[in-house]
Amino acid sequence: LADRLQKTIQKIKGKGKVTEADVKEMTREVRLALLEADVNFKVVKDLIKRIKERAIGQEVMESLTPGQQVIKVVKEELTDLMGGEQSKIAVAKKTPTIIMMAGLQGAGKTTTTGKLANLLRKKYNRNPLLVAADVYRPAAINQLQTLGKQLNLSVFSLGTEISPVDIAKQAVEHAKKEHHDYVIIDTAGRLHVDEHLMDELKQMEESVNPDEVFLVVDAMTGQDAVNVAESFDEQLNITGVILTKLDGDTRGGAALSIKAVTGKPIKFAATGEKMDQLEPFHPERMASRILGMGDVLTLIEKAQEQVDEKKAKELEQKMRSMSFTFEDFLEQMEQVRNMGPLEDLIGMLPGANKMKGLKNVQVDEKQLKHVEAIIQSMTKEERLNPDIINGSRKKRIARGSGTSVSQVNRLLKQFHDMKKMMKQMTNMKKGKGKGFKFP
Ligand code: GDP
Ligand code: MG
Repeated sequence: LADRLQKTIQKIKGKGKVTEADVKEMTREVRLALLEADVNFKVVKDLIKRIKERAIGQEVMESLTPGQQVIKVVKEELTDLMGGEQSKIAVAKKTPTIIMMAGLQGAGKTTTTGKLANLLRKKYNRNPLLVAADVYRPAAINQLQTLGKQLNLSVFSLGTEISPVDIAKQAVEHAKKEHHDYVIIDTAGRLHVDEHLMDELKQMEESVNPDEVFLVVDAMTGQDAVNVAESFDEQLNITGVILTKLDGDTRGGAALSIKAVTGKPIKFAATGEKMDQLEPFHPERMASRILGMGDVLTLIEKAQEQVDEKKAKELEQKMRSMSFTFEDFLEQMEQVRNMGPLEDLIGMLPGANKMKGLKNVQVDEKQLKHVEAIIQSMTKEERLNPDIINGSRKKRIARGSGTSVSQVNRLLKQFHDMKKMMKQMTNMKKGKGKGFKFP
């Protein structure tokens, strides 16, 4: 989606007070961004209505962090739109479970057939059989056989002379004999939805009675993907959608409307050509991606769980009154620590996965421990009033914490700088909206 949406989100995120006008501006941006991303018009309209109702209601206005709360509402609504909970793959009462793959040519059916089988075996310990039922392109059979070899999975093929419906039937018989618990049938696609293809797929569906009919759609095609999904859904009993090519720069407008328009859940998402690049679809993660925030919302939620609201208010008061001390600093560090390993937290920051250098970043826990030790080696008086820390006190603290005087100095300077920054921020807040007053 557009950068504009992200800018609006950035703007609203830090707001301590959100007005109706803010919400209107936000929803307008969300609306434009979604329309630009090719999300179905009606879907957008309904969504915006719900967001507005919730955002202008008490839920947001009376919370401690209304800015973040608005974004949370937007995210929750987007998540709901994509089906809420992550959905599961069927298991037939009587083995084998039969899965039929359908979709346009080039959508990624054959690749996904391999990936799905790979996932079923690796993650769920199943023994799937791949079925080459695309008889119109000899290359398609080779493609599946190559994947089978690569993954060390059996591929069932009867060449190109036998009808796909018969191939599917015989494949199921073969699977029973060979004790395969899953049968995944790769079918032919066309460039456009056409009658002959649909008839054949319908016949196959009737004769093998699959437990799942997965529609494979290319996420890059946006609104077209939705139209395709609609017409396949009219003809076949689609049970779920697999969205491919989410590794492109698409932000997933298609994902948003598919569930809303067809009512069919997105079950898996493919994010690359490699055989391990398929995973169960998580509506919530997709919503974050659409909002362009990494897992920043999870981060916010974590933080909210940890920081007791009353404490947060007290802290804010302290910052404003400049009575923030090393005692508070230590307490804050502990709270951050309670949120989990710092590496995980950094991974959730927006854009962190884009920054290559950050990927393998190891937060220096050792350094944090030093900081903690230094503060712990201070007397209560020193923590409350660091200005009294002179040369001999510094030496004592360094010795007590197993660090050096220069490390102590560095921390004192950082603390000083932080307080200065807070003061500036507080002044800015005070000045805002009321006209700046000279003291
Ligand atoms: P089919 O005609 O529906 O069977 O499509 P294929 O499985 O042959 O895939 C068409 C092309 O899309 C191939 O080049 C695949 O490697 C590629 N492809 C499939 N899935 C993905 C994906 O998730 N990401 C990317 N980047 N390429 C994909
Ligand atoms: Mg194919």
